[in-house]
Amino acid sequence: MRAGLGFDMHRLAEGTGVLLGGITLPFNKKLTGHSDADALCHAIIDALLGAAALGDIGEHFPDTDPKYKGASSIELLRQVAAEVGAASYRICNVDAVVVAEAPRLLGFKESIERNIAETLRIEAGRVSVKGKTAEGLGPIGSGDALCVQAIALLEAIS
Ligand SMILES: [Zn+2]
Repeated sequence: MRAGLGFDMHRLAEGTGVLLGGITLPFNKKLTGHSDADALCHAIIDALLGAAALGDIGEHFPDTDPKYKGASSIELLRQVAAEVGAASYRICNVDAVVVAEAPRLLGFKESIERNIAETLRIEAGRVSVKGKTAEGLGPIGSGDALCVQAIALLEAIS
């Protein structure tokens, strides 16, 4: 068994929705970044790569590479899941915490979890996503940013 940790943070700017786990939550802001800025996918990618000791998201998908400008992070997550499988690991579970003052995850949690599970080709019950606020503190509390922590557990199948 191998555990991996992932973290990501993106700025929030004026927009029409926040993309998390491939699902857009309607909101008056959006996440900004080089790719589609899906912080949940990015944190899970790093958790999976970390568990398999396969490097990190920046090495796999450099933000200096124009190829990844506006890239679909759910597709990058799919690629990483395939890579982890090719390295003879099975994904046991993924858990994540999204820290944001708004939007609230409530009402979107299940569709986000289902979308991630389908992307990783694992049962829905193996993916958990939790929402948390920053109690109004710091850049997250003021609504200028959102961060995600994720952990993944892999089992060697060789
Ligand atoms: Zn990111």
